[in-house]
Amino acid sequence: MDPTRPLPDSPRPGDLIVARPEGLYCPPGDFYIDPWRPVERAVITHAHSDHARFGHAHYLCTAPGRGVLLARLPGIQLDTLRYGERITHHGVTLSLHPAGHVLGSAQVRLEHGGQVWVASGDYKLEADGTCDPFEPVPCDTFITESTFGLPIYRWPPQATLMDEIFDWWQANARAGRASIVYAYTFGKAQRILHGLLRHAGADGMPGPVIVHGALTQLNAAYAGAGVALPPTALVSELPARSPLLRQALVVAPPSAQRSPWLRRFGDASDAFASGWMQLRGTRRRRGVDRGFALSDHADWPGLLHAISATGAARIIVTHGNVPVMVRYLGERGWQAQAFDTEYGDDDEAARPDPAVSAEAAQEQAAP
Ligand SMILES: [Zn+2]
Ligand SMILES: [Zn+2]
Repeated sequence: MDPTRPLPDSPRPGDLIVARPEGLYCPPGDFYIDPWRPVERAVITHAHSDHARFGHAHYLCTAPGRGVLLARLPGIQLDTLRYGERITHHGVTLSLHPAGHVLGSAQVRLEHGGQVWVASGDYKLEADGTCDPFEPVPCDTFITESTFGLPIYRWPPQATLMDEIFDWWQANARAGRASIVYAYTFGKAQRILHGLLRHAGADGMPGPVIVHGALTQLNAAYAGAGVALPPTALVSELPARSPLLRQALVVAPPSAQRSPWLRRFGDASDAFASGWMQLRGTRRRRGVDRGFALSDHADWPGLLHAISATGAARIIVTHGNVPVMVRYLGERGWQAQAFDTEYGDDDEAARPDPAVSAEAAQEQAAP
């Protein structure tokens, strides 16, 4: 082994982004991207709680992300940039580009000393109508997530999933049963609402749409940003014994499962919307009737497509299936390494336990 070659995980002189205990740091620009400890300047890729935290002195995000970020972190000192707008800070040119993950989500492009780096935050390739679609940004070094970085993860097209959700709802409504779908409150829930509206139109819905109170503020932020959502009601707005309750689609956060809030819907059918539902074991473990593999993250082909499309020679993997992705890329000629981060999983509630991951590996091995 050549002792002058840097170890895969060690920074090189001139790196535009390095991992520090506070978060991903740009040394020449003196700012952080999605830091997990309080810092002076934080560039926020998107408002999910593991990427956007309280405690920083100054925040920067995209203009379309302003409403959702303030809904989550009220009172912060926030500046915004339009997608593609450039600013220069300590000689580093910074711009934000659509990541297609949730409303306002961005990849951060940095240019300095003849190098271009892109930190992608979380991203998804298929356009879903609720946020600006992902754009590949050419760069020398690309920092990628790998939440669903195993070859088993391949999403059906969104239109197929909306068909499935709609058909399930319609069949339940005909049988006089409410349809309860658990979905992450920020991003996933609005995507289902928007997707069903686009699928059926407000007049073609099999019944009313009832949302859990946890969605109210985020739905308002999406509507405020111009995302079309169907008319929704809170359960308190319907009479307790209304027959409409048994025709309803109910969108609720995963934390509402098994809560007393559900009692008024009686004998309902339930479902979970998450990329983790692609594994049969996760649906069994959640104890729901149906699983819809709807994810706000890139699947395996999507990750590889995005990585290739940047043209980057060096790839740094931040969270998810990090060792798998680093090894896979390394074997195919990329300079691949990892950053140790504290980013989690937006769909933590649906995440498979180790037994289910073992099942995934087995399904993987099966022909
Ligand atoms: Zn996220
Ligand atoms: Zn993330």
